[in-house]
Amino acid sequence: MRRLPIYFLIDISESMIGEPIQMVEEGLAMIIKALKEDPYALETVHISIVVFAGQARTLVPLQEIITFYPPRFPIGGGTSLGNGLGHLMYELRKNTIQTTAEQKGDWKPIVFLFTDGVPTDDTQVAIAEWKKNWASKSSMVAVSFGEEADLEVLQKLTENVFMFKNTSVNQYKSFFKWVTASIKSSSMSVETGGTGFELTKPDESVISKLDPREMPPKPRFDHNFTVFTGKCQHSQKPYLIKYRRTTQPTMVGGMEMNSLVYRLVGAYLVDSSYFDYCDETGGANKVGTDELQGAPTCPSCGNQYGLSICQCGKIHCCGNEEISTCPWCGNKGRYGFGEGRMDINSAQG
Ligand SMILES: [Zn+2]
Ligand SMILES: [Zn+2]
Repeated sequence: MRRLPIYFLIDISESMIGEPIQMVEEGLAMIIKALKEDPYALETVHISIVVFAGQARTLVPLQEIITFYPPRFPIGGGTSLGNGLGHLMYELRKNTIQTTAEQKGDWKPIVFLFTDGVPTDDTQVAIAEWKKNWASKSSMVAVSFGEEADLEVLQKLTENVFMFKNTSVNQYKSFFKWVTASIKSSSMSVETGGTGFELTKPDESVISKLDPREMPPKPRFDHNFTVFTGKCQHSQKPYLIKYRRTTQPTMVGGMEMNSLVYRLVGAYLVDSSYFDYCDETGGANKVGTDELQGAPTCPSCGNQYGLSICQCGKIHCCGNEEISTCPWCGNKGRYGFGEGRMDINSAQG
């Protein structure tokens, strides 16, 4: 039986922390469960998951549905789409069975790329290689999670660029139903003489296809979210603090102006693999503490202040300790609170 390889190339950068990555995890589990009940998919579909942040890795090597168990997703710093594509092409080279005189090779692989941001690395070389070697030998579906992805880059990769409005749990469900249905119809089509790539019609209020002949809209912000990396001073565990960038009207000299503020979304523990997925470059931008609305508690030990800033510039938790020890630099000291504005470095996004 000829295989129909399906690759998921998934952005696991920091802005995906919280609901998005949890929804992707549940969505993948839903896809696998549905495919295990589908006779056509069971026969042909093989799935692999490649993830990228600053670094790219194979999270699940290409395998048949029956042995596939949905993984937990890590989170890392950076959005190195170039690295992600490079790693995907490595997997494609390694895994793809070519048709020869003796055997029928694989059907054209299908790649689902999910990303929510603007690449932090140079993508030119990887895109050129993709166009030269893989664009015609595979089918790519690139999906922008929210409105912040660099659509122009995605359009260089494929004609199938979709905008996914990912603001509610139901929209995620609708999205993953569409992905599942598209995989099913593709696997059915290989057995009935079709092309092996058949996207079903999505719910257009949730997923809309970009016209490949039109210039895509620019992302609204460079990042709609700003994320800081903290560490618990007791458990040494890293966590991410996520803020949503938004504007709010303020009165300045009797005039109403819109000023930029950051509203707390939440703080989330990440495992230490976080640092393996980060790239070398430093934080993306500086944010003043007076622009932050809301402060988290420590998601590891419950300390009241999850966003205390050491003199080394890094963030850790603080509570009733007499003397705090910075888990980053080892500096010991007492902490005062609320003394003026400080600038802190955000993570990479
Ligand atoms: Zn703590
Ligand atoms: Zn420190």
